[in-house]
Amino acid sequence: MDKRDAAHLLEQIAAYLELKGENTFRVRAYQNAARAVAHYPGDLLEGLVTGDLAQSRGIGPGTLAIIEEAARTGRARVLEDLRAEIPSGLVEMMRISGLGVTKIRQIHDSLAIDTIADLEAAARDGRLARLPRFGPRTAEKILKGIEYLRRAEEFHLFHHARDEGYRLAAALADLPGINRVELAGSLRRRRELIRDLDLVVETDHPGADLADRLGSVVGVDDFVGKSPEAFTIRFASDTVVDLYLSPPERFGWELLRATGNPAHLEQLRARAKALGLTWDADGLRRDGALLPCSSENDVYAALDLDYVPPELREGTDEVAAAADRRLPHLIEAGDIRGFLHCHTTYSDGTSTIEEWACAAADAGYEYIGITDHSGAATYAGGLYADSIPDQHREIDEANRTTPHLRVLKGVEVDILEDGSLDYDPVTREQFDFVIASVHNRFAQSSGEMTDRILRALDDPTMTILGHPTGRLLLSRDPYPMDLPAILARAADRGVAVEINAHPQRLDLDWRMVRTALELGVTISLGADAHNTQGMSNMDLGLGIARKGGLTAAHVLNCRSLDGFLAFARCRR
Ligand SMILES: [Zn+2]
Ligand SMILES: [Zn+2]
Repeated sequence: MDKRDAAHLLEQIAAYLELKGENTFRVRAYQNAARAVAHYPGDLLEGLVTGDLAQSRGIGPGTLAIIEEAARTGRARVLEDLRAEIPSGLVEMMRISGLGVTKIRQIHDSLAIDTIADLEAAARDGRLARLPRFGPRTAEKILKGIEYLRRAEEFHLFHHARDEGYRLAAALADLPGINRVELAGSLRRRRELIRDLDLVVETDHPGADLADRLGSVVGVDDFVGKSPEAFTIRFASDTVVDLYLSPPERFGWELLRATGNPAHLEQLRARAKALGLTWDADGLRRDGALLPCSSENDVYAALDLDYVPPELREGTDEVAAAADRRLPHLIEAGDIRGFLHCHTTYSDGTSTIEEWACAAADAGYEYIGITDHSGAATYAGGLYADSIPDQHREIDEANRTTPHLRVLKGVEVDILEDGSLDYDPVTREQFDFVIASVHNRFAQSSGEMTDRILRALDDPTMTILGHPTGRLLLSRDPYPMDLPAILARAADRGVAVEINAHPQRLDLDWRMVRTALELGVTISLGADAHNTQGMSNMDLGLGIARKGGLTAAHVLNCRSLDGFLAFARCRR
């Protein structure tokens, strides 16, 4: 049993106990232990033997005994007893967003429902809506939640899929006979949601024995050969991987095809035909002879196209642009000079200003914008106006001790229900820049929400519109609003619009980034990080920026410190 399985087992126990109505401390103990196991840096068995695991925060004697039992026997009696007592469908229901334990128990007790399928039926035929304190709106929300759950089973957030992909690629790269492994597919194209992984493996000797070795990689559950060179692997963790073997001389061709997307490949194929080339399984041919294709560059060159970065291969206008030599020079990591949107212990973050400053300096940024929540955000420990002087003194101190970095005094203020911004204008003026975001009243009509944000954009203290649509991937839709009108107003008023790089948000969506670009909107890349580990969010935002076709010139925090401050100041 590995760490993931052990953590999952502890989470399951916590869920059953919660449904049983056990006291919250007991439930929390299992949840904490699950987290501690999942993040335990060493090997689980080794940690048990040496006693190191027992020392980890979050693991107590009771939970330790269960981990030991599970590691030894692969089972936990506590969990088996709970399973015998409580229908598993109820535990599954806990994964439906908006459906808590109290409601699940009420549904179970009054309608005798214990599967998601029955729950869905009851939501559709009105039984659910008739329950006390439910109503049609709640039933509607539960249906939506079921739909999300199904999607979440099918899709994975980008960063989870990427981590899984890296792990797998590293494991494969260690096998003898393998020269290199590249991630392809939608992951390489930096889609925000990933269904399965695609890997291209370069080897000098594709053959049966290599296939056997691939099948023996740890965690492989099922291994299906579709051809001698293409396999589908299903892992015990439910990850599905399409794997392609390629000799070095054809690697670019295989990588291109495994990367997709189908519409992009179709356009390439049409172009090949127009140029009198043949496109077959082995590559491009002229007069029957195979053209070189060891790299993707070879293939694009043979088609008389500029190289198309994977992020742009979505079958929109990228092939035409590559033919006309007008593909954008996409923004790169090194172009980003300022790290923006982070929360500290002054609101709901867990890193201090000093820790943030050190991390940003180490990462090579020229400036960092600290942006805690404003006072109206009571749910996130928002900063009351009387704490601002303390925070600013601390920022001044960080500037003294971190000479090569400028720490900026920013803030993430709430856009209030009527479109005004939190704090009074004089207070907002004390900050170097202001991100303004919607954090509540999501149920407003499209007209109300649009007016609310349009009004906020008129405020001269506002610098950046934060997470503009409020979506949470796989759990919450964007709020209804007229986004093009909002983007047009932002462009007109000189307010930047954020690509929020939090892995669950990635908001603005890359498709709308392209619209924003056409409207002349300045884009800001914001990490929305709540501790210094979240610094790596920036890379997720970068992927979306590239996918949206942005160059460094479009992005606010690619500007110098002076350029950034001038942008914030010129509206005031
Ligand atoms: Zn926010
Ligand atoms: Zn935030």
